[in-house]
Amino acid sequence: MQQLRLASRPQGELRNEHFALVETPAPRRDSAALLLRPRYISVDPYMRTRMRAEGYDYIERWDAGSVLSGWSLAEVEHSRHPAWQRGDWAIGHLPMQTLVAHDGTALRCQPPGDPPLAFMHPLGMTGFTAWLGMCVLGKPGPTDTVLVSAAAGAVGSIAAQLARNAGARVIVTAGRADKRDWLRSLDFATVLDHRREDFAERLAEAAPQGITLNFESVGGGVFAAANDVMRTGGRVVVCGLISQYQQADPRRAPPNMALLGERGVAVIPFVAPHFSQRYADFLAETTPRVTHGELHWRLDVVQGGLAALPEALIGLLAGANLGKRIVAL
Ligand code: NDP
Repeated sequence: MQQLRLASRPQGELRNEHFALVETPAPRRDSAALLLRPRYISVDPYMRTRMRAEGYDYIERWDAGSVLSGWSLAEVEHSRHPAWQRGDWAIGHLPMQTLVAHDGTALRCQPPGDPPLAFMHPLGMTGFTAWLGMCVLGKPGPTDTVLVSAAAGAVGSIAAQLARNAGARVIVTAGRADKRDWLRSLDFATVLDHRREDFAERLAEAAPQGITLNFESVGGGVFAAANDVMRTGGRVVVCGLISQYQQADPRRAPPNMALLGERGVAVIPFVAPHFSQRYADFLAETTPRVTHGELHWRLDVVQGGLAALPEALIGLLAGANLGKRIVAL
């Protein structure tokens, strides 16, 4: 079977040569309660940060030789587990390999049938992150002006809709024309290009009264532009800083952060794994919204199996995706 590993630690831009696709012996059918065949693997910005030498305190660091892993949708190929049958779908965090032996813990089971792809996005980790950041931490309402950057991406597209559904005025940004067209088709009226040099001026024009809630996903100049127009007493939910993940010092703060203190803006950083006990609440609230079509969601499916994953991630980190990027195996 095939397995995707980190070949060497990237310094700066991630490249194909940092990955190794290796042949290893397949697990035996009876080596664990379940034998799983991954069909879809999520491609996420945090994967690049797991490759950093500094590591993280909430998730294992990847070193040269580490088997990569990701949020996955897998078919049960063989089961000796009383609660699972062949053909069921398993959803959870799995190693990136074509066959996985598993004991079934920390996996969600869905019945056989069409792949339950909603669990790869609006009901999966990206939907959960958007819900945590908006509904649990940001709590927008009708008096808010909310900024959502990278809004044609996975987390941003859901977060922006949640803010709008809560009655807020929402300013969305995206770095490519087709992404902005998609956001307009979802009825977002104020759609800006965060990659333009004059983004800060455009944002100030679009929010003459200031931003009351910034859902920050990009960092760098985009974060700095938002800080400039934050209204006194506002809040910043720091979801991510993708523009910094390939920089030498990814934890660097924008130079105008002091403004937030002066204006009494609450800064609320979060990572979804710290809130895993809320996943059941999230599913209970969000499943009807997805079933009734209240939340639009879009997948960006890259074909080609594990061999396609390196390019899919490299592309994601450069903004190539529209919607939630996943790789099909
Ligand atoms: P996306 O689907 O949004 O893809 C990433 C997007 O970031 C790109 O498509 C690109 O869109 C945008 N982007 C903006 N500026 C840059 C830049 N300088 N370099 C590269 N890309 C840029 O990814 P996700 O929805 O999975 O993640 C969005 C953010 O949320 C990330 O910061 C991520 O780390 C964070 N996150 C945080 C979690 C948490 O627990 N706090 C969990 C999951 C994600 P464009 O073309 O519009 O610029």
